[in-house]
Amino acid sequence: MKITDLEDLVERDREHRCEGYGAARVCVRVVGVARLPTRFGDFRIVAFWNNRDAGDHVALVRGDVIGQPDVLTRLHSECLTGDALGSLRCDCRDQLEAALRALGRAERGILLYLRQEGRGIGLMNKVRAYALQDRGLDTVDANLALGFRDDERDYAIAAHMLASIGPASVRLMTNNPQKIDQLRAHGIEVSGRVPLVLPPNRHNRNYLRTKALRSGHWIDLDGILDEQSEE
Ligand SMILES: [Zn+2]
Ligand SMILES: [Zn+2]
Repeated sequence: MKITDLEDLVERDREHRCEGYGAARVCVRVVGVARLPTRFGDFRIVAFWNNRDAGDHVALVRGDVIGQPDVLTRLHSECLTGDALGSLRCDCRDQLEAALRALGRAERGILLYLRQEGRGIGLMNKVRAYALQDRGLDTVDANLALGFRDDERDYAIAAHMLASIGPASVRLMTNNPQKIDQLRAHGIEVSGRVPLVLPPNRHNRNYLRTKALRSGHWIDLDGILDEQSEE
């Protein structure tokens, strides 16, 4: 059966079972598809079940993407404090809105909203890491002090979600080289990269510097370091 409509994925996945992606052998099924008009444009929301945890991962899909090449795609990891509560400690909400605006202008695109809060350490531990940062540690050292790696996020599930939706290839909106490497390692065709760079605010400058200097993100440091020296 050749799938052309997102809505058909629910029926296709009803009995889906595979050996799973990544070390955790994660497998997902599309369990619901619905229209989602947003302030950024009209999307459809695709809900996924997974065999590992209770995380309700979703995709926002714009236009027809099945079998299409070079589909503009963004992987966003949940940040309750930034996305929903407007925190300025990070740039998550700015990134989410910039991505949705870009997708809303595009003919087709995909945003995966991954429920891996606080770089995968969970909301409770993220708040504990913030407390350490309030006492002077940077984001990397704070996570290490709590016994976590700098970044616990795993993109195996994102790769399976993309494979389930089925674009022929994706153009990834990202500054994070790990995302591209991990998706490719899981067999996703990444045909290009679109940078997503936003101006820092006075609360998240150090966070962005650490991302660039210690976590290997492609962030243009000039603006950040220049403004830093004004303080
Ligand atoms: Zn599977
Ligand atoms: Zn955030």
